[in-house]
Amino acid sequence: MKAVVTGGAGFIGSHLCDHLIAQGHQVTVLDDLSTGSTDNLTQLASEPGFRFVQGDILDRELVDSLVCEADIVYHLAAAVGVYNIVDNPLRSLRINLHGTENVVEAAVRHRVAYLVASTSEVYGKNDADGLKENDDRIYGAPTKSRWSYAAAKGLDELVAYVHGSESGVPCVITRFFNVVGPRQTGRYGMVVPRFVDQALSGEPITVYGTGTQRRCFGSVYDVVPAMTRLMETPKAYNQAINLGGQEEISIKGLADRVVELTGSKSAITYVDYEQAYGEGYEDMQRRYPDTSLAAGLIGYAPTRDLNDIIDSLVNHRRAADSVPEPV
Ligand code: UDP
Repeated sequence: MKAVVTGGAGFIGSHLCDHLIAQGHQVTVLDDLSTGSTDNLTQLASEPGFRFVQGDILDRELVDSLVCEADIVYHLAAAVGVYNIVDNPLRSLRINLHGTENVVEAAVRHRVAYLVASTSEVYGKNDADGLKENDDRIYGAPTKSRWSYAAAKGLDELVAYVHGSESGVPCVITRFFNVVGPRQTGRYGMVVPRFVDQALSGEPITVYGTGTQRRCFGSVYDVVPAMTRLMETPKAYNQAINLGGQEEISIKGLADRVVELTGSKSAITYVDYEQAYGEGYEDMQRRYPDTSLAAGLIGYAPTRDLNDIIDSLVNHRRAADSVPEPV
């Protein structure tokens, strides 16, 4: 099959490309390299079935020209990362709203099956014990830029869902819960690569707020194969499906775990939210997925625990650091 992966130079997108190429598919990546990097794709550069196109999902003609040649589209391109969303609210909103609309409309126009990547952010402040796909969204005021990502992604889901159900073109929406793995950068906020980098360089580990907020981290190696399997499963079409891990931990607990697994001498420090993200920031206190829908559809069962996830990042960083600088 010919796949288009928007955002294929990003963290999850590049792992998806690896997986699709390993399965024998042809892959075209569309990425503007705003937060992704071609470094994530060097291992695929010599693959005959692989093609990289640098471009913007806001470019309708470009999106259309790539989608019309494809059998399947994985739409992962988005403005991501809390710092990025808070620092660039308008561009983030345009990418996440109009970019998705362009990709979905092109897919429907050419009757190409599509997957739209969404996020656990759509649940907002709902801290239920095991968030289910039909649970309510609870958001703060629209004037707080933190919520623009959740609001845009909620609309993306709607765009994907309504187009899918009206056209009959196969469509899957995946909601990622704090997916982590090698190639993820901490530059835009993501806590696990940040803590791992801080631990490995001996810098203080920066826990925001009290550190009692809880998350459940999922491995990219569990999530990526689930995406392709869902696209092969007609019962999954026109549904939003949670994907993530099972081991819940507080952010302070995560900092302790990273220190323990790296043998780091880094101190753990506490930073006010305001200092970290600017005024008026609201954090989610808890976010824990119920992944029973994915389990029922494709037998989804995460195989990597938090230690495996942290180790995979640590090994990746250590290997990258041992590569000599080019002269
Ligand atoms: N966080 C932290 N220190 C950091 C970066 C993030 O304590 O250096 C916290 C952040 O405030 C949040 C949690 O870690 O409570 C997860 O943050 P991330 O941005 O990875 O994901 P999200 O907030 O989207 O779940």
